[in-house]
Parts: sequence; structure tokens; C-alpha cells
Amino acid sequence: MFWDKELETIDRRSLELLQLDRINAALERISRSDFYRTYYEAKHYKVKPLKSLEELQGIPFMSKEDLRQSYPMGFVVCEEKDVIRLHSSSGTTGTPTVICHTRNDIENWGSLVARCLCMVGADNSDVFQNMMSYGLFSGGLGLHYGAEKIGMMVIPVGSGNTDRQLKFMEDFQSTVVHITPSYALYLAEIIASRGIRDKLALRIGLMGAEPYSESTRKKLEESLLMGVYNSYGLSEMNGPGVAFECSEKEGMHLWEDNFFLEVIDPATGKVLPDGEEGEIVMSAFNREAMPIFRYRTRDLAFVYTDKCECGRTHRRISRIKGRTDDMLIIGGVNIFPSQIEHILMKMPEVGSNYNIVLWTKNNLDKMTVKIEVNPDLFFSDLKHLALLKEQITHKLRNEILINPVVELVEPGSLPPSEGKAKRIIDQRSKEK
Ligand code: AMP
Ligand code: ZN
Repeated sequence: MFWDKELETIDRRSLELLQLDRINAALERISRSDFYRTYYEAKHYKVKPLKSLEELQGIPFMSKEDLRQSYPMGFVVCEEKDVIRLHSSSGTTGTPTVICHTRNDIENWGSLVARCLCMVGADNSDVFQNMMSYGLFSGGLGLHYGAEKIGMMVIPVGSGNTDRQLKFMEDFQSTVVHITPSYALYLAEIIASRGIRDKLALRIGLMGAEPYSESTRKKLEESLLMGVYNSYGLSEMNGPGVAFECSEKEGMHLWEDNFFLEVIDPATGKVLPDGEEGEIVMSAFNREAMPIFRYRTRDLAFVYTDKCECGRTHRRISRIKGRTDDMLIIGGVNIFPSQIEHILMKMPEVGSNYNIVLWTKNNLDKMTVKIEVNPDLFFSDLKHLALLKEQITHKLRNEILINPVVELVEPGSLPPSEGKAKRIIDQRSKEK
């Protein structure tokens, strides 16, 4: 099933011409922005129309840090009154990265999501339970509007509260769910332990926001008795609806009439041929409010070289193999170890060493932060220590949006770091 058959199956030559046209239109909009001019001047680049898509490689890369420095609206190239919504990525210390959208951007994003939903066989007879969090995170609202577009009945539950999720799932006979794979594994266990699968009508699971393997997909499909489809997106490129699996389940079609896809060698920045694994770099050239060029996603994947049986001509990317930076993804939330360090090192009660242990319980990712406290404090009374533990937990929760387990330990008891500090101990089950 197609939402926009003409564009989804467009021949490569016409697609490339369309890309070039749209890219040049976006570059023209950018060239009128003082902020962009200064930004590119500092990178010794002058915006000019491209004669071919290859020339795009002359545009400097953009990083998350560049985006952060444009806060709040530096890269917005439309009139500010035309912005109707913003979203922000999790996982940043201090200044967040923000992406703004005009009405057309939101409309267009919804259409891209609608393509994805039709592609996996959802339609207006489906009941859609959106179990991703709503708010600044683009996952919830991103899927929501696409689902309404194709006419599904949307239940905007948001994340968490498993009992309520299951009640809605049963009472409204939800057929399609949008959920992180780690939460889905947990849910599958609860459903099995309560023996309620036959009371549910689930048939399609849209799963993304964090990496998972082919074996996790199989496990989820077998336990939940539904089709599981991988969904890839990032807030810098809108959010969900960037790349999605079709019924072939062999790579995710990336909507190339909106996003220009490159895979680079992360060390040299050189563009790699299809089939070779590297870092995904993308340009969002069809956005009115914030077109961005050559954004380094830090995500590692490769592009499939063969044609897809489904008839869509947009190239497919593989599952995300990992990241080139140290970003952790815990239950769909992005966390940089530097955020934790930032909080801890501001507290005089905290000693010099700490580490972060990642583990799994009921298939859900958990985080324990072990912290050496100052000798004076460690040997003081227990009440003090309990209070400190509470304070640290609260501060970390505010910053990283998940609840870590905090353990205060004796000074000198954690293994000292030799050379580069190894602070992350990942004991999560490798199953995922
Ligand atoms: P955010 O901007 O907060 O939406 O986070 C985007 C990041 O989440 C991406 O850059 C990826 O690292 C990760 N991500 C999103 N979807 C997937 C997926 N299907 N598989 C693996 N990682 C994903
Ligand atoms: Zn396909």
C-alpha cells in the first residue's frame, strides 16, 4: 500500500533532478540569512547554487555542537512568526538543540509518516496506540499526526504505566502500537505472564528510537504475534518518518525526496560508496523553517545496493550498528556521560571517581551510578549520606530524564582509571 505512489516509486533520474531543484531552493533561502552567512564564513564556505549533486560535498559538515550554538533560533530562515512548533533532542548538557517547523513543515512531516504507516500495511480501520512520550521529544507527536492523516483512531497514551496501556489495548482493541523495543520486550513478558494475548488485537508494532537486533525483532514477533517494523529518525531531521522498513523487512527506505543521504568515513569525512559501513550524514532540504545541510548523525550504518521488491526506489539503510560518539541510549532516552559528570563534579561532596553501570531488568535498561564521596563525609553520620544520595538522584533525574540508582561508595574503592577513564560498564544483555 502506498500513500504517495508517484513519489515513492519515482525513477532515480527524476528523483535526483527533484533533489537538486529542492536543494538549490533551500540554499537560496539560506543565503538570505545573516546567521547562516556568518556561520559558513567561519567555515570558509560561501553558499552558491549547485550544478550537480556531487557539488554538495563542498558544503561543510554540521555538528550537534553547531546546532547548539545556534540556540534558540539561529538557523531559522523563515520569518519567526511562521514557526508553529519546535522540538528538542534529549541528551544535551545545558543548551538544548532545537528544531523549528512551519505549518508546511509539520504537514509535510505528517505525510512522510503517513507513507511509512501505509508501507507497513496500516489503514483507517486500525486503532493506533502511541506509547512513545509526547512533548519536546519528537517521537510521540511525530507519529501522531501521520497516524491521524491516514485516519487511524489514535490513542495518545504516551509512555509508561503498563497497566493502563494494557487496559486500553484490550478495551479499544488496539491493532498498531508505537513503542521502544526495550519496553516492548517488557510488555511481552507481562502479557505472557498474565496470559492475555488472545484478548488483544495487536498486528503491527512500530519500533525505533534505540538500536535493536534482528533476534530481538524475532523474539518480539513470536511473543507478541505481530509484525515488527524498524523505524529510524532523529529530531534534527524532524523525528520519526525519516527511514522505515517496508513489508520486505530488509533495510529502511529513507525518503530521499526530503533528505539527502550520504555515508562517510567518520575518520576522514570521505563519502563512501553504497554497501560500505560508515556514519550517516543527512541534509533536510525540504524544510521551510530550518533546512540543514550535511548533518553528522554519528549513527553507523550502510546503504543497501540492490533494488527493493516492494517497488519503492528510495534507498534503504541498514539497522544502526552503533554510534561514533559516546552517547548512550537508555530506554529510548539519549544520554551523554558528560551530562552525569557535569552534575557530579559540581558537587563538593563528591570525590574524584565514579562509574556508570548499565544493566537489564525485565528487559528494561537500568543505570547505576557509583560515586566515591569525600572522606570527611563518608565517615560522618548516615543521615548525611542518605540526604546526599537523595540530592544526587534528584539532580541526575532532572538532567538525564531517567531515574538512576545511586550508590555512594568509600573513597578509593572504585578501580582507579589508568589512562583514558573507563567510566561506562555495560552489562546489558547482548540479546537486544
Ligand atoms: P532523538 O534526536 O532524541 O530523536 O534521537 C535520535 C537518535 O536515536 C538517533 O541519532 C539514533 O542514534 C537513535 N535512533 C533512533 N531510531 C533508531 C533506530 N531505529 N535504531 C537505532 N537507533 C535509533
Ligand atoms: Zn521496500
